[in-house]
Amino acid sequence: MFDSKMLTSFVIKSSLCKYSNMKIGGDAAYLLAPQNVSDLSSIIKEANAQNLQILPVGGGSNILFGNVGNRVIILDAYLSEIFQVDNDTVIVSSNMKISSFIDKAMQYGLGGMEFISGIPAHIGGAIHMNAGAFEKCISDYLYWVEYVDMKGNVITIDRKDLEFGYRTTSIIGFIVRAAFKLDKKTKKQILADKEDIISKRFERHPYDYPSLGSTFKNPKGKFVGQLIEECGLKGLQIGEAQISEKHANFIINLGNATFNDVYELIKIVQETVEKQKGIELKLEIKVIN
Ligand SMILES: Cc1cc2nc3c(=O)[nH]c(=O)nc-3n(C[C@H](O)[C@H](O)[C@H](O)COP(=O)(O)OP(=O)(O)OC[C@H]3O[C@@H](n4cnc5c(N)ncnc54)[C@H](O)[C@@H]3O)c2cc1C
Repeated sequence: MFDSKMLTSFVIKSSLCKYSNMKIGGDAAYLLAPQNVSDLSSIIKEANAQNLQILPVGGGSNILFGNVGNRVIILDAYLSEIFQVDNDTVIVSSNMKISSFIDKAMQYGLGGMEFISGIPAHIGGAIHMNAGAFEKCISDYLYWVEYVDMKGNVITIDRKDLEFGYRTTSIIGFIVRAAFKLDKKTKKQILADKEDIISKRFERHPYDYPSLGSTFKNPKGKFVGQLIEECGLKGLQIGEAQISEKHANFIINLGNATFNDVYELIKIVQETVEKQKGIELKLEIKVIN
């Protein structure tokens, strides 16, 4: 068992549904919220010594919680928030919301990352997922990353020494800080670009219900939303989970959806698209079960 005696001050007694944008989740054996990097490092070391998997949680906008077992779930929420500017470089803590990051950088006439406006994520989660939209991704602006590795060591690594792919990164550990090199832009232009992106998102995506964004990755050269729609699955409902009428790659929580409701929809979509289109859909969201 994970010896939480020395870690009692980090333990949070709360349901995981509070930490997922999908508003689904039950109890966790270990839900921890360290307040500094040194405590975070101790937790990771302890988890590693006990052979327990860790799960960093940022904005929770891509995590579907099921039975999390003995995973050590670590929130970034109580770490200190950092935002420092040096010329065109911004150093930011992983727990900052994307919206705050864009707004703060704008005050310094720095922009470029407006394409991720409207994503309800934190910087660390967005780096882990290499969040992207409108043919750009967050790694395009990344300069360096600081993270705690699985042995508890704090590592700083340059962007050029990292690999990023379609919602993937080579970093294994808990990201704590990052530096981005931004473009010099007027506040007016940043604001206009941000508003344009947000209005496009609201037009295309179902923001009126809890969701985790795109459920599946787009197969090469195809749009998964279109494939799901062509299979006649748009609007399909299991319990209180539904394949959104607005965008078929979003699964929404109509109220009291359960993990099983969402999981069943995922399986139906994968099986139907495989059968009708011969395409195997890969999950973009992280299903923790
Ligand atoms: C309405 C909506 C719209 C969305 N639109 C987009 C979009 O346009 N493009 C896009 O790419 N995604 C989109 N998403 C998905 C999601 O927001 C992104 O994947 C985002 O990057 C997740 O960030 P997060 O902080 O919420 O991470 P979480 O959901 O908390 O975690 C996601 C993954 O990152 C890991 N992680 C979190 N924090 C850290 C950390 N500090 N260090 C290491 N690993 C960490 C977690 O363990 C997990 O594996 C959307 C989601 C929603 C709900």
